[in-house]
Amino acid sequence: MTDLRPETRTVHLPQPPLNGSRPIATPLYQTSGFVFDDPAVFADGMKRPDGAFVYGRLSNPTVRALEEAVAGLEGGVAAVATASGMGAINSVLLALLRPGDHLISQNAIYGGTASVIGDLVERFGIEVTYVPEDDPQALREAIRPSTKLVYLETIANPVTQVADLPGMCGVAREAGLISVVDNTFASPILCRPLEHGADVVVHSTTKYLSGHADVLGGIAVFADDELYRKVWKFSTNLGATADPFASWLTLRGIQTLPLRMERHCANAHELALRLDAHPAVSVVHWPGLPSHRSYALAGKLLPGFGGVFSFDLVGGREAGEKFMSSVRLALLAPSLGGVETLVMQPSTTSHKSLNAEELARHGIEEGTVRVAVGIEHVEDLWADFAQALS
Ligand SMILES: *Cc1c(COP(=O)(O)O)cnc(C)c1O
Repeated sequence: MTDLRPETRTVHLPQPPLNGSRPIATPLYQTSGFVFDDPAVFADGMKRPDGAFVYGRLSNPTVRALEEAVAGLEGGVAAVATASGMGAINSVLLALLRPGDHLISQNAIYGGTASVIGDLVERFGIEVTYVPEDDPQALREAIRPSTKLVYLETIANPVTQVADLPGMCGVAREAGLISVVDNTFASPILCRPLEHGADVVVHSTTKYLSGHADVLGGIAVFADDELYRKVWKFSTNLGATADPFASWLTLRGIQTLPLRMERHCANAHELALRLDAHPAVSVVHWPGLPSHRSYALAGKLLPGFGGVFSFDLVGGREAGEKFMSSVRLALLAPSLGGVETLVMQPSTTSHKSLNAEELARHGIEEGTVRVAVGIEHVEDLWADFAQALS
């Protein structure tokens, strides 16, 4: 095609073949659609997630690489990557629940998820019962004929309760219920809920999986193919699909996930111990401390206790606010899982919509400070915290 004019040449750009080599890094397939030689292959790809790549809302090779990476890490058969953690959570709940279904959730769950469940109750006639995250008997007693799904979080925010995954998922399985576990705070390095009997694992990949506070994403991982296909169909119809560039950044982050988690956990351990011993601090919530309600369970379930903890100061709300405005290295910001250490006050931000009774149910005080520990040198972090405490 040497006789083409510039107007045509600029449209039909060359795509050189890879003659005998391939890239080390996963390529970014920044394309909305795919080209076919065979119309039958085109038609087939529209119907199923494992057919040829057809259209970016259905599937994309870079997004698929992320899905396979996380499915592998979690021990699942397949995964659906989404534009955000909430995209994954909504895809799972909306694909699997119908009006009149009953859902059982643990008490302390992510604010966005609580809001979605509230909306499902109000607008779709779905019923919900809340139970403690570590009480399989309470779960058993809450089951009704209409119960469909059990919703858990491996480590909850911000008081870091650990769910009794084997106990709770075991009860769900016996009763034929689908168990969904938000594993964002643990990451597959600390916990693989499917190994404990969960059916679906969801993540905000915005957090530890991507790890650098520069991308939004989510993913749902499945223990069985039937649930996967159901959620894939719903999620692609909903348009919750992950973007290739976001998926590419997330894959890049995953390559250092084990190294980062090790440092997040080690830094959190050291800071939690030192804060616990500090006279200005009344309580530290971190499952690696013997005083935490999940200590025994966490010791059995997790090889490390995560990079998030929270604490209360003797001086209450005022002292908490003073601390947050006095740190210099730690940043006053939402989210977690990035390399920088972040501090925030749940009662006025992430859990602002809860009343006093609900805050108490979550174990949150007005002055509770939540820390998402980064990977800085721990002595620099402690120097910052110590000056802010004084
Ligand atoms: C952040 C977060 C979500 C929501 O994820 P987005 O990526 O913000 O949509 C869900 N669950 C947990 C535990 C989270 O921390």
